[in-house]
Amino acid sequence: MNVLSQIPAVHQLKKHDRFLELITVLDVSEQVLTDWLSEQIDVVRNRVINNELNHEALNREKLIVLIFDQLNEKIHSFYRNNLQGVINATGVVLHTNLGRARLSKQAIEHIHKTASSYSTLEYNIQTGTRGSRHDIVEEYFKQLTHAESAMVVNNNAAAVYLVLKAIASGGEVIVSRGELVEIGGSFRISEIMEESQATLIDVGTTNKTHVSDYEKAITEQTALLMKVHKSNFKVIGFTEEVDTDDLVHVSRQHDIPIYEDLGSGTLFDFQKENVGAEPTVQAKVKSGIDLLSFSGDKLLGGPQAGIIVGKKMFIDKLKRHQLARVLRVDKFTLAGLEATLKSYIRGQERNDIPTIHDIIASSQSVWEKATKFVEKLNRASTSFICDIKPGKSKVGGGTMPDEEIDTYIVDVKHDFYNSEELSVKLRCFKNPIIVRVKSEAVLLDFRTVNDEELEQVIKAFLQIDMENL
Ligand SMILES: *Cc1c(COP(=O)(O)O)cnc(C)c1O
Repeated sequence: MNVLSQIPAVHQLKKHDRFLELITVLDVSEQVLTDWLSEQIDVVRNRVINNELNHEALNREKLIVLIFDQLNEKIHSFYRNNLQGVINATGVVLHTNLGRARLSKQAIEHIHKTASSYSTLEYNIQTGTRGSRHDIVEEYFKQLTHAESAMVVNNNAAAVYLVLKAIASGGEVIVSRGELVEIGGSFRISEIMEESQATLIDVGTTNKTHVSDYEKAITEQTALLMKVHKSNFKVIGFTEEVDTDDLVHVSRQHDIPIYEDLGSGTLFDFQKENVGAEPTVQAKVKSGIDLLSFSGDKLLGGPQAGIIVGKKMFIDKLKRHQLARVLRVDKFTLAGLEATLKSYIRGQERNDIPTIHDIIASSQSVWEKATKFVEKLNRASTSFICDIKPGKSKVGGGTMPDEEIDTYIVDVKHDFYNSEELSVKLRCFKNPIIVRVKSEAVLLDFRTVNDEELEQVIKAFLQIDMENL
């Protein structure tokens, strides 16, 4: 235990050259640096106590080096943001852990402008009087979906909650057992229902639900018929579900409102591009459904938001509910949405909106980026072994779970580093690069990497190679 007595005190280390140098070069106060230093002394002390360090090899000098090395780490991590931009080389377009949709240039510019000045968030510029933030994007959604009315809340989970609370609280909601999904490990239809004080009446079985199942469950207490997009799972084999049109018919016959949680919800017809079988929001509105909700940052390709469209009578009720204020979005979300929706109205969504662009990009275009990467790497280094192979990209974000898009994947191996080490090094760059790791290689799918990022990826690989020389 006499190693402990070798650990220097804070006041001693504050006179050390390394501390004095840090004070002159760093943009933090002496007080903060002193706090960090004593924190690191404690860390080292605990490591000694817990026998995590080899006592024989330790002496006062080595302990000092250790403390200052750890202090450096601490300083580095302080200067790094906790929320950082990364390069997504996984090919998963809507990667939930990596922030789902990346925004269009137009959306970013509009957010930037809105952030740097005052804005007409709740101001009517024509009359010079108070306006409503609900009006900012409603007309665009009406135009694009042909719905009577629209509103925006914090996310789609909030939209589901608001609809249930405002329309069905205290009543019964009929949902097919096959649609009682859990999304992203934290959002369960059954639990959100409980939270909203509506009673869940689940009908049918996991694989089959018929119109008659809904009809038999209707009582005086029924407040809402609800359909939920299965999103991240698919039942295969003998299945039957009631489609929206048929359920709208039941709803009309019994005079009970009907709502569908679409999950992703797309304004762009991916089916026409031979991707998936996702019906558009417009098509759903056409069925005559009362309310629909979907996410802003899934297939729409905008900022995080929950979009609710449908009959004016119901949307008005939602807008008036106290929760609407609780769940409202800020000006940046509205700015991002406005610019995103304008791309759709201008018919430029496939060019402007990265989510759409990346999902429908041809495998040939991914192959071209892959080839550029491999050629540049091979020209500058001999220690990487690259192999371009056909593969599959995923849409992600719980959307189109069974849809795989043809792509090309680059398998990269290094003479010296194994795949795990390579992936760690790639994550350590200032612009971290996220890749898939297979047992012996890292896999890169350039579907989700733009031209500018591709250059950074090439540079990063070459730098890794230089370190090893
Ligand atoms: C993704 C999803 C949600 C949650 O949407 P968020 O915008 O992430 O809150 C709810 N329901 C379904 C069916 C979904 O796919």
